[in-house]
Amino acid sequence: MATKQLHVAMLASPGVGHLLPILLLSHRLATHHNLRVTVLAVTATATIPQYLSQLITSFTTHLSVIQIPAADISAVAPRNANVVTQLCVMMRETIPAIRATISAMNSRPHVFVGDIFSNESWAVAEELGIPKYVFVTGNAWFTALFTYSPVLDKQVVGQYVDQKEPLEIPGCRPVRPDEIFDAMLNRDDENYDVYLNLAVGVTLADGMLINTWEDLEPQTLNALRTNEILRSVVKYKPVYTVGPVNKRYEPDALKGEVVEWLDKQPERSVIYVSFGSEGTISAEQINELAWGLELSRQRFVWVVRPPTGHVPDGSFFKAGQSDATCDYLPEGFLTRTQKVGLVVSSWAPQVEILNHTSVAGFLTHCGWNSTLESVTNGVPMIAWPLYAEQKMNAAMLTEELKVAVRPEVLPTKKVVGREDVARMVMDLVEGEEVKVMKINVDMLKKGAEKAIRENGSSYISVCKFIEDCWSQIQ
Ligand code: UDP
Repeated sequence: MATKQLHVAMLASPGVGHLLPILLLSHRLATHHNLRVTVLAVTATATIPQYLSQLITSFTTHLSVIQIPAADISAVAPRNANVVTQLCVMMRETIPAIRATISAMNSRPHVFVGDIFSNESWAVAEELGIPKYVFVTGNAWFTALFTYSPVLDKQVVGQYVDQKEPLEIPGCRPVRPDEIFDAMLNRDDENYDVYLNLAVGVTLADGMLINTWEDLEPQTLNALRTNEILRSVVKYKPVYTVGPVNKRYEPDALKGEVVEWLDKQPERSVIYVSFGSEGTISAEQINELAWGLELSRQRFVWVVRPPTGHVPDGSFFKAGQSDATCDYLPEGFLTRTQKVGLVVSSWAPQVEILNHTSVAGFLTHCGWNSTLESVTNGVPMIAWPLYAEQKMNAAMLTEELKVAVRPEVLPTKKVVGREDVARMVMDLVEGEEVKVMKINVDMLKKGAEKAIRENGSSYISVCKFIEDCWSQIQ
């Protein structure tokens, strides 16, 4: 057996933020650890956006990537299903296709790894008699809250958001009620039950891989591994740190005009504004953000997307669809800012932007992939969380790691005014505080590089994961 190549099947649920880290981890397993990896990418839209197919293609030299169209859930999903519920139902209903795809493979995988929405697929791994692991594409602090949610559910009376005190997670930094994961916002909603079921489901895996590294979250990782209460919640399963897995370059076809524009700007002068692959803000907020950028008189690249009411992840299943008209921006904005700003519709080559020398800061929705991309390129941030666990990420970036500033109001609750936007943007380009943030983020960058280097903590952790896989299949 020892001479055989370990074959891992990696299952990704719909969403760039899920597929991308699965592809990246798979790539690392294949290129650094000589594993054979087959990625099963469940895709929710009939037509894959162009950027996504280009992204997938860029990985196919070292990986087999099989796309599995998600089952149509229109008849089975609850009427008020939020994104988490839709993903859970979609992944559950797609199990027959996942099972059929694995059965049709020439060589059967030895190990199954899936993201947090894959828990219903553990059954497929069990049928095959192979170990199953969850890959949490968020950080360890989120993992702790997520897996501890069923306990909080028993302990806390009333809505979490109405609690006067932060929510205690044993051994970890407490979570402020207004920063909890979106799926926990309303306990009376049936979506919440789906979330709790998901939280239990991930702990049934044989172990957890987390997109973080030891030096970034020592306290939480220590708690997940040694705190008796948390260990019992994760059912005494091993926790592996595999991060940061993040993009280091963009496919050539995606670079385009943005990089050419950045090449012409002075060093560390541009603010990059993006709300991830699907984040949207209200029409009023777009207006204030545009005016704020203009008032700041700083250079910017802004990835714009049309407003979608008050559902910040409203375009989750439409990511990458573009609307080139931009008629939702304030009148005359494009003309007045044409010398200092570049507005990109829907999708930009984010990593090329973040590692460009003319970029000074990133106004980000704090999706974990974007956060890691900013950190590993040494770019300080404006933390502007919108949905999912992004409020926790924002708190971590501003209060703990001190690599970001944040608006005076929580963007999920109130509109951030133009003066506030202008202040943050100016501070990020030329303020005093940014000097300390830059030192901090550069230190994190170095730590991240060290972690994934040969014999770094994440490298060693991946080796341990592989060793544990072998020991279960021999
Ligand atoms: N992304 C990109 N260009 C865009 C928007 C997003 O390349 O215009 C990538 C970004 O680099 C990141 C991912 O999409 O790797 C978004 O993941 P994240 O976890 O930050 O947020 P999500 O989109 O899942 O909310």
